[in-house]
Amino acid sequence: MTNGTFGTAINCMDGRVQEPVMNWVKEQFQVQYVDKINDAGPTKVILEGNEETLASIKKRVEISHHGHRSEVLVIAGHHDCAGNPVPREEQVKQIKETTELANSWGYDMKIVGLYVNDQWKVEQVTEVIQPNSAS
Ligand SMILES: [Zn+2]
Repeated sequence: MTNGTFGTAINCMDGRVQEPVMNWVKEQFQVQYVDKINDAGPTKVILEGNEETLASIKKRVEISHHGHRSEVLVIAGHHDCAGNPVPREEQVKQIKETTELANSWGYDMKIVGLYVNDQWKVEQVTEVIQPNSAS
């Protein structure tokens, strides 16, 4: 049996963005724990990755969703990303595209895009996509 409530975060591996994103998810969605799916520049990895890479990420989302009953998936990019060194505007565009792609995966989860800015503060950069809105 799993105890506690969970959210899920696809986030960069960068040590500077772990706590801000985790804390934002806990506060915003009133969950106790945040399962982390980390990669270097994850939006770039997801948008440009091969099927094997995508399958690995989706598998982890699935474990968090089904095993931990997570009902929220956040996708975060950040300032000064070594794995995805592009300007904020490009990051935000990628974050939006990734939330839309993740919605097409069909999990019954809210999905929202975040950007961790140069003050290491979390900004919500997309609308929250509600579950089951995939067409
Ligand atoms: Zn990064």
